[in-house]
Amino acid sequence: AARAASKTEPVPFTLPMRQAIEVREALEIELRQALRRGEFELFYQPQIDLRSARVIGAEALIRWRHPERGYVSPGEFMPVVNTTSLAEEVSAWVMETAFLQTAKWFRAGHPIRVGINLSQCQFGTGDLVSQVDRLLARHEVPPHLIELEVTEDIILDNANNPTLTLSELRSRSIKLAFDDFGTGYGSLTYLKKFPLDTIKIDQTFVRNLSPGSDDAAIVRTTIDLGHALGLSVIAEGIEDEAAWHFLRDLGCDEGQGYFFGRPIPSETFEATFLASGTEHAA
Ligand code: C2E
Ligand code: MG
Ligand code: MG
Ligand code: MG
Repeated sequence: AARAASKTEPVPFTLPMRQAIEVREALEIELRQALRRGEFELFYQPQIDLRSARVIGAEALIRWRHPERGYVSPGEFMPVVNTTSLAEEVSAWVMETAFLQTAKWFRAGHPIRVGINLSQCQFGTGDLVSQVDRLLARHEVPPHLIELEVTEDIILDNANNPTLTLSELRSRSIKLAFDDFGTGYGSLTYLKKFPLDTIKIDQTFVRNLSPGSDDAAIVRTTIDLGHALGLSVIAEGIEDEAAWHFLRDLGCDEGQGYFFGRPIPSETFEATFLASGTEHAA
């Protein structure tokens, strides 16, 4: 429908565009319903101390248990959630559910650190710190068992002062992780600027690790950089034993990936990783 248009004239709606918008609106309605009906769940993926092979943490990852489609992964619906008014509600649900689980495991004698992925909306409003304070008090969770994961775009794209928010969280002993490290544009700058505890090396660098490869060079340098800055380093996307041993020998502190375990429901996580000690049975 490309008519020679003047620069100020809006681009006319084409049929595919209209359809895309309708699909999106339908999805938004379905997601709102899903939240009301309790169709969201948090799965947990084990995070392993690479030297001892012990499970020391779990990343909470949202799933939508769709009545017909089964489990839907966040890549399919979080982009819609995050650009609608649903974002605040879903984020609040994720925080509440993850704190509750952390408290439950802690009381049962399993001090597992739980990683929570933050959404951009939680930085915009400025009440993330008070939300965390409320949750810590209500669930009586030791703050060092909560790790908030932030990506570069989350801290970047907002007018508020993210450094202040992060500092306040950190002064409460909440752990802060830089998620998907290496995939953004300014990672090094942000490492220097933001108060963090952990770097999570993105899985794109880890999945095809082989000695001598470019990815190996990037990973080695990132581990050394993290350690030089006093941070701990966790690698995502460890899919085989060779990657585990390779990363461990480079001094990488922790790891997660399909080799150690996929994200699973909390009950499965308990049965698999918390029932008889926390040793990984590889
Ligand atoms: P992320 O935080 O970087 O999470 C890691 C993703 O990598 C997860 O996908 C996980 O299932 C996957 N993964 C883990 N190990 C392996 C592996 O060995 N191989 C491969 N190929 N993949 C692996 P998932 O669960 O689909 O989540 C995707 C993204 O959705 C997350 O990326 C995060 O950005 C977002 N997300 C998930 N849950 C939440 C949530 O509760 N809140 C927010 N705001 N975002 C979430
Ligand atoms: Mg994450
Ligand atoms: Mg990640
Ligand atoms: Mg990611």
